[in-house]
This record gives sequence, C-alpha cells and structure tokens, in this order.
Amino acid sequence: AVEIENLKKSYDGRIVLDGLDLTVRLGEVVALLGPSGSGKSTLLRCINRLEPWDSGTIRVTGRQLGVDEYGRALSPRSIANARAAVGVGMVFQNFNLFAHMTARENIAGPLRWVQRVSAKEAGRQADELLERVGLAHRADALPRHMSGGQQQRVAIARALAPNPAVLLLDEPTSALDPELVNEVLEVIRRLAVEDGLTMLISTHQISFAKDVADRAIFLADGSIVEEGPAQEMLTRPGNPRTRQFLQVMK
Ligand code: ATP
Ligand code: MG
Repeated sequence: AVEIENLKKSYDGRIVLDGLDLTVRLGEVVALLGPSGSGKSTLLRCINRLEPWDSGTIRVTGRQLGVDEYGRALSPRSIANARAAVGVGMVFQNFNLFAHMTARENIAGPLRWVQRVSAKEAGRQADELLERVGLAHRADALPRHMSGGQQQRVAIARALAPNPAVLLLDEPTSALDPELVNEVLEVIRRLAVEDGLTMLISTHQISFAKDVADRAIFLADGSIVEEGPAQEMLTRPGNPRTRQFLQVMK
C-alpha cells in the first residue's frame, strides 16, 4: 500500500532521513519505534505530504502524492484532494480536532469540503464512524467536553472517513493520561485485527506493538537499524541499539 524509496530529508542541512526504504503491504500493521528525534514524525508527515522532502519517492497505492500524472507539483488544495483520493489518513499526538465543532461535525465537515459528500450523507457517515469507535452517544459534544481518549477516538474516526488505504498514527496515546491509553489502543487494535486496516503507527507502547503489529521497525540516525516480525524483534532484538532502546523503554 505504501512504497518509500531512498527518502532523504534534512532540516537546515541536518539529515533526518538518510535514504530510507520502506514498504508497507496491504493489510499490514507496522510499528515504528525509535528514540526521540529519530525522525518518526517526519517520516509520517512526509508520507501524508505535510512536509516536503529532498529526494526519493513515496507512493501510496501506486500513486505519488503531491505530483500530477506528469510529475508536476500540485497546489495545496489539490494535495488535500489527492490525500483523500489516494487514501492517506493521519492521526496526531494532540488529536488536532476543530475546537469549535462537535464530534459529528469534525468528521462530517471534511467529508463535505474535501470529498464533496452531501450534508445529510456526511452526517450519516459521521454517526456510523462514531459508532465504530464507541462514541455514538457523544456525537453532539464539543472536543473540550470530551476526555482526551474520546477526542483521540473522534480523530481516528475522522481519519477513517474517506476510507483511506493507509492510516498513519503518530504516537496516538502519548498525550493521554495513563488511564485513557487503553480505550484508544483497543480501538486501534480492533481496526487492525477485525477490519484488517493497513497502518503505520509510531508508538512507545512496546507491548501494544508486540500484540498488534505484524512488523516492527527501529529507526535511528536517519535509517532503519532493524526490522522484523514484531513479536520476535521486540522480544529478542538482534541489534544492540534496538536492545538498548527496548531496555530503557521497559
Ligand atoms: P519524538 O519521539 O520526540 O516524537 P521523532 O522520532 O518523531 O521524535 P521528529 O519529530 O521526526 O522525531 O524529528 C526528527 C528531527 O528533526 C529532530 O532532530 C527534530 O529536532 C528535527 N525537526 C523536526 N521538525 C523540524 C522542523 N520543523 N524544523 C527543524 N527541525 C525539525
Ligand atoms: Mg514524533
């Protein structure tokens, strides 16, 4: 579903991603691990074209986001459309909900503006999505009246609305109080296991990654230091850097 080739990205001459190659297959759940500053967010933001990069290609379902069929750069508006058409959904650490809109409107709004779905149909789809993340009863609530866990579940529902080919989640539980982490992980687990969604998740939740991810990737110094089946790699890491990282995370 996602093919990344030789991705290079630097900030002010400092290399963050140094020729990264990564393929995420359809239906696969990949956990992205790595120390702070290793480029996890940068990688996810590049895939969603929220960030420009220096060289290399990123394809989602065979198409390059951000350039047209002739390789010409697209406008921001066209990129939003392409994101929806190509099918990348993203969930951020801090939820990023529209503060002045209810849960339902947070989901229905983008469906109307970007996907050009009618108001009635968008509302119907929003309610269905809220049901899917266990929040049908909070449809009319504003973000500030919801717990962090509920807000993040609304954000997940919103990201799912255009039916993306891949869902990117950037440390979806790290801004949450500990007692709210599990309800969000449970929603993600269900999407992975029951709905077979393709996902790339950066997380520090090692046991969750072991449980839910098919494959784990350890990022450091701009490239993939180690990757493998999640269970195996996170139980018996082969690389000393990975081993040290996992030790500290315990
Ligand atoms: P964390 O676990 O803390 O979220 P991360 O793995 O997500 O870290 P990134 O946020 O991708 O790491 O950052 C990678 C590097 O790029 C860091 O050194 C960071 O300081 C730098 N960086 C990120 N965004 C910018 C920016 N907009 N301008 C300049 N440098 C940036
Ligand atoms: Mg990050």
